[in-house]
Amino acid sequence: MLPRVSLRKKNLPSDLTYLSLGSNLGDRQGRLLAALQSLTRHSQIDLIRSSDFYETAPQDVTDQPWFLNMAAAITTRLSPTELLSVLQDIERAGGRDRSISIARGPRSIDIDILLYGSLIVDTPGLTIPHPRLTVRRFVLEPLLEIAPDLVHPVTGQALGEYLPDVAEQPLHRICLR
Ligand code: AMP
Repeated sequence: MLPRVSLRKKNLPSDLTYLSLGSNLGDRQGRLLAALQSLTRHSQIDLIRSSDFYETAPQDVTDQPWFLNMAAAITTRLSPTELLSVLQDIERAGGRDRSISIARGPRSIDIDILLYGSLIVDTPGLTIPHPRLTVRRFVLEPLLEIAPDLVHPVTGQALGEYLPDVAEQPLHRICLR
């Protein structure tokens, strides 16, 4: 079951934190739902909205199964670094083993911080906005589904304006509700 969150309202504000979730191993949908449940159970995270699922072609390392991707909007009192650590705990609980993973290769569960309000973070372990946010259709489409009016905090450009550049990347939306 999907967590009970408000699913249909448009125009989420830009001061929320936005995440991208993906899986291309095993029970992909089950892994994404389990990760959402972990977010809802965390005492310092409120899940505001989640997107539909999107079946998406692998990028960079193309010889691997297709991914199931989604986006989520949360509020949190955690700092970006604390949030990343919580997300990595959730990834580990979902079967992610970084010691054997190939960069941009198959993964049971991957959770990235796309935006943390309008904050800009540029440290060796964490970059926000996520550096590949604007060049990945599997990130942009789910994100714009739940927050169509978002603006890139660094470039000031509407995120929707990046979509035409990624339109060739194969993707199918799976509407479950
Ligand atoms: P990945 O293989 O996609 O999970 O990413 C590997 C590394 O990216 C992680 O160990 C993080 O330290 C780093 N990273 C940098 N920026 C971000 C971000 N915005 N969200 C998630 N991970 C990030």
